[in-house]
Amino acid sequence: MLVELTEEQRMIKETAKKISEDYVAPRIPQMEETGEFPWDIAQVLAREGFFKLPIPAEYEGLGVDLLTICIAYEELAKVSCFAPDLLFAASAVVTAIKLFGDEVQKREYLPMMGDEKGIAAWCLTEPGAGSDILSLSTTAKLEGDRYVLNGRKRFITNAGVAKYYLIFAKTGTRERDKESISAFLVEKGTPGLEFGENEKKMGMHGMATADVILEDVSIATENLVGEIGQGYYIATKGMNGVRVNGAATALGLAEGALAIAADYSKERVQFGKPIANFQAIRLMLADMLMEIEAAKGLIYKAAMILDRDYFSPEGALYASMAKCYATDAAMKVSTDAVQILGGYGYMRDYQVERMMRDAKLWQIGDGTNQIQRLIIGKHLLQGVWKD
Ligand SMILES: Cc1cc2nc3c(=O)[nH]c(=O)nc-3n(C[C@H](O)[C@H](O)[C@H](O)COP(=O)(O)OP(=O)(O)OC[C@H]3O[C@@H](n4cnc5c(N)ncnc54)[C@H](O)[C@@H]3O)c2cc1C
Repeated sequence: MLVELTEEQRMIKETAKKISEDYVAPRIPQMEETGEFPWDIAQVLAREGFFKLPIPAEYEGLGVDLLTICIAYEELAKVSCFAPDLLFAASAVVTAIKLFGDEVQKREYLPMMGDEKGIAAWCLTEPGAGSDILSLSTTAKLEGDRYVLNGRKRFITNAGVAKYYLIFAKTGTRERDKESISAFLVEKGTPGLEFGENEKKMGMHGMATADVILEDVSIATENLVGEIGQGYYIATKGMNGVRVNGAATALGLAEGALAIAADYSKERVQFGKPIANFQAIRLMLADMLMEIEAAKGLIYKAAMILDRDYFSPEGALYASMAKCYATDAAMKVSTDAVQILGGYGYMRDYQVERMMRDAKLWQIGDGTNQIQRLIIGKHLLQGVWKD
């Protein structure tokens, strides 16, 4: 282990394990079958304080550091990515308010976001704007003393179940202009805020994913988060820490898949011996473990750098490396786990095919791994990396 866990981290890890085993694991078949959002799991996470992890203590949160959140998400994801994904999307909004909101917003919203009644959703992606954030077309126009928002957000995690929506919209008129984007907090129930159908996804069943539709949504100017024109900065630099938490989720998934594959290889007998005795299987297991340990090293290092200096270029570099490496590792490890289980791996009862489907999201969401590699290359060429 790269870091010696503190008593608090050990307790959070143990609680995460218990939640996964006692509450999440038994609900997986139903989530897979129906795709319905399991409110009972959200309630358990709230009861155990998981929504409060990123919220500072002065706003009724637990105010733990990024590394501790990584440890929590990693543990939760060993069984299912549902819980960390729910928390991850909500914590992105918490982080934006924590880092960029004014004192009134912090006092009003952060305590509310500490349980399942105040789930939040991060609304950046649009039908025409995915990796290319600058092409977004949702608008926020100042009319008297209110902003009026119009547009459509796509693939939004927690859409419909969330109470709070952080909407990125154009406030300037210039095309492809970083300073023309701003962020606004919109509450569910505001007239004109609607949701599309829940998407039918490859994996991550149980998560709510839908369009968020804004038609003449009128909000007070006080709902602007950060400065006018600061939205691009919030969506990029502000999210480095959250990105590392996503990487930790992928890491946990990989660890869960490896554990299943290793156990299975010791039990499955072919040609008169456990398949773990075949070198071909051992070599695969060895590669899987190395991928996991390398990812863990990058994630923990990234979290520690960001905990020291959240906006450092080095933190941004390591956040992208951790996200890219860990999510690629999760994809490879979960695919190899299916291979080790052979035909059984392809069957739902053995869990690894679900993990393989879930792993794919983490290479795409939160900035695709192609985009992460571009960020890594840019920082390298700017001399950010020091050996
Ligand atoms: C299940 C799920 C949940 C999501 N949740 C949220 C959410 O809560 N909030 C939110 O805002 N968004 C969310 N997203 C959206 C996600 O962030 C985007 O899907 C992602 O950023 C990619 O955008 P895109 O799908 O439009 O792909 P595109 O940007 O169209 O990319 C298509 C392909 O082209 C590649 N590509 C694009 N540009 C370049 C380039 N310059 N160089 C090299 N390759 C490039 C990409 O890597 C990708 O392989 C979610 C997506 C999914 C699937």
